[in-house]
Amino acid sequence: MSLPTLSLYNTLGKKLEALVPLTPGQVKLYCCGPTVYNFQHIGNLRTYVFEDILVRSLRYLGYQVTHVMNITDVGHLVSDADEGEDKMLVAMKREGKKSEEVAKYYTDIFFEHCTMLNIKRPDVVCKATEHIQEMIDLISRLEKVGAAYQAGGNVYFDVTKSADYGKLAELDLESLRAGARIEVDSNKRNPMDFALWFTKSKFENQELQWDSPWGRGYPGWHIECSAMSMKYLGESFDIHCGGIDHIPVHHTNEIAQSETATGVPFSKIWLHAGFLVVSGDKMSKSTGEFLTLDLLTKKDFNPLAYRLLCLSANYGGELSWSWQALENAQQTLKRLEQQVVTLRKEAAGESPATELPPDAEALRAEFETHIKSNLNMPRAMAVVHQTLKDSTLPPVERIQLLEQFDQILGLGVSTWVEKSEEFPADALALLQDREQARTSKNWKRADEIRDALAGMGFLVEDSKSGARLKRK
Ligand code: AMP
Ligand code: ZN
Repeated sequence: MSLPTLSLYNTLGKKLEALVPLTPGQVKLYCCGPTVYNFQHIGNLRTYVFEDILVRSLRYLGYQVTHVMNITDVGHLVSDADEGEDKMLVAMKREGKKSEEVAKYYTDIFFEHCTMLNIKRPDVVCKATEHIQEMIDLISRLEKVGAAYQAGGNVYFDVTKSADYGKLAELDLESLRAGARIEVDSNKRNPMDFALWFTKSKFENQELQWDSPWGRGYPGWHIECSAMSMKYLGESFDIHCGGIDHIPVHHTNEIAQSETATGVPFSKIWLHAGFLVVSGDKMSKSTGEFLTLDLLTKKDFNPLAYRLLCLSANYGGELSWSWQALENAQQTLKRLEQQVVTLRKEAAGESPATELPPDAEALRAEFETHIKSNLNMPRAMAVVHQTLKDSTLPPVERIQLLEQFDQILGLGVSTWVEKSEEFPADALALLQDREQARTSKNWKRADEIRDALAGMGFLVEDSKSGARLKRK
């Protein structure tokens, strides 16, 4: 049976493209993960929410997905190009800790934040420091095809050996060459060349070091993602994701070195999440002020309100951050939850139909159409609101649809039930006693308990699925 077609905006070629997996029915996906030298800010988390929506949508549509994400715990310099110190070293000095301690601390918090946002853990999470041999092997391959050279103790990739260098970002190489700051690294043959391996000749006190054929040192950042993606997904795979800041340098260099080494196309589709912007500027750690999910929860926001805010814009465009926008998302989330709780009460005792009637099917088809057209979440959310309001559909069917949609939305619809813990324990105990009295047909006792509960401010509602409390 053929699976529904998902069309995605491929940065490579800048057009909408139908996803045709290399192996039918199976999608191999690589996502650039966090550099674990600091907290991921909510801008970074927007990118992971998008990737989670992608994975959930693929699985909803019936694809098997292998989702791989790296953890950058070495090699990412302060600038995405080859300038500055390793970000991990910056953090080690700042915090007076060993690099593994820094990496573990921020990796754990990153995954805690992902859990709070209902982001599913990737199938493979791979650390750069555990894949140094794979990187050395790939650099050796590049050396063999004459695309890597040693200079000043480092190993560089020669961009002139990549016939279509810069194709992802559609870089204008001539003007880049003309405007390049050649003094930055005089070892480079061409200004766009980038480091594959650094040795101690550049960083005397570098603590993160490994032996290599080129001397003791450490890998460049870009080679990490090429080596790890190929290890887990093969030399060619289906989708590669990241934030748009990765287009001109990191992903451009990943493509160049991978395709030059293997001679085959690297990722077929490249997807990029747009920035979360604050007053028109990218939220960024280097500019100092940035917001974390912990700060949001300290201010009593539900992390899922931020997830909902992310769903209010198309993933590829910018999303404007403001506390007011988050407040609005939180109100919407509360309203959605309330609507679902009310519908559940109305639906109590009704069992869901095995097949949805045509009206409900039409809503489901519309929701799926929006998902299939480049994950159009604002439109998909509009169908969610429409479904909840559609009084021509029985409540049980509306709930059924919402729970299906939530396989992609990840807002936790199944947890939107009336919260029994909102009622005091003694009232709940009395309710149970009343149920027992009713079961043993002791109507007098059951009525007495109902009156006692009324005295405490609670009404008892009987339904086919049992009795429950309601505040008067
Ligand atoms: P980093 O830890 O800096 O490597 O970034 C992790 C991910 O977040 C990358 O995919 C970046 O492209 C992405 N990213 C960085 N800044 C933002 C932002 N302001 N909004 C959305 N995504 C971002
Ligand atoms: Zn990467």
